Amino acid sequence: MIGRTISHYRILEKLGSGGMGVVYKAEDLKLKRAVALKFLPAELAQDRQALERFRREAQAASALNHPSICTIYDIDEADGRHFIAMEMLEGQTLKERIGGQPLPVELVVDLAMAVADALEAAHSAGITHRDIKPANIFVTRRGQAKILDFGLAKLEPRQPAHHGPDTPTLEQALVTSPGTTL
Ligand code: ATP
Ligand code: MG
Repeated sequence: MIGRTISHYRILEKLGSGGMGVVYKAEDLKLKRAVALKFLPAELAQDRQALERFRREAQAASALNHPSICTIYDIDEADGRHFIAMEMLEGQTLKERIGGQPLPVELVVDLAMAVADALEAAHSAGITHRDIKPANIFVTRRGQAKILDFGLAKLEPRQPAHHGPDTPTLEQALVTSPGTTL
């Protein structure tokens, strides 16, 4: 894959992989900027359920505009390969960042508040991530949290969010009972 051009993206290096695809750093040749491309594994391209999950991932994340949610630019297909183009993040996942060592309390609190705020925004838009874990939270070099991987997200058809009395505040959202799916 490295060195290939797919659509208008030149693949530069592999960033990581997971159950639902391989993520590469690429150059957007039109906008002349770095992007991250997540490819659906080739063997899943004919799997309707996997393709549907991949589309849902792109739709759920792109419906949200929040500083702590990785921005989705596009979903496309070229040469039979399905991919999502997204904001290129520099840093490491929270799982790597922890690396078996405790983190400074100030950083933990900052990250937790950012993630809680992003999830509150998602929930207000009727989107439940359902797979919040350190491997799906990226910590940028500037210490900003970014939620990744909406592959298991559930989307509720809903009226546009309003901030009436039934919308929980961040404080209320933070005291959700243990076992609540985030
Ligand atoms: P899994 O299902 O196992 O959680 P996945 O296949 O759904 O994984 P992601 O969690 O989206 O894939 O990404 C896999 C890895 O790729 C991440 O752990 C991270 O290291 C890297 N990665 C993903 N998105 C980006 C990005 N926008 N910028 C930089 N690196 C990224
Ligand atoms: Mg993941």
